[in-house]
Amino acid sequence: MSYEWKLAIDAQEQLYAVCPFCHTLNYASSDLSLWPHGVLGIAQVTKGHAKVFEHPDEAQLEVGALEGKKVVFGCSCGRLEMFEAWIWNSRQEIIDYITLRAGSEMAESRAVEEKAQIAKARLTLVKGTQGGD
Ligand SMILES: [Zn+2]
Repeated sequence: MSYEWKLAIDAQEQLYAVCPFCHTLNYASSDLSLWPHGVLGIAQVTKGHAKVFEHPDEAQLEVGALEGKKVVFGCSCGRLEMFEAWIWNSRQEIIDYITLRAGSEMAESRAVEEKAQIAKARLTLVKGTQGGD
């Protein structure tokens, strides 16, 4: 997991979070003083979750945002790490796609602007003809 990836998806610190990929409740436990009610707080949060993954070496989890969902760095499923690896390994295709798509969007925008200018010129011409009665 790279530092850049954490920046890109705006990682924030949290005591616990549910992974949207595997639905595991992840929690950090190296500093119990951060938890309201300490171990009891952890028990309250984890109660009823079928899958729970402890991060005993972390005081806080790093949680980012991807497609509007909170994503957990270091979840046992490793999906976030696989997602970054896919992006990085496909970077040339992604760059090509963005370049082509941006070019198409700009060409489309220029065509719309040209049509608007032609319509405006015709309107001016019509008004000029009407004014000369
Ligand atoms: Zn997960």
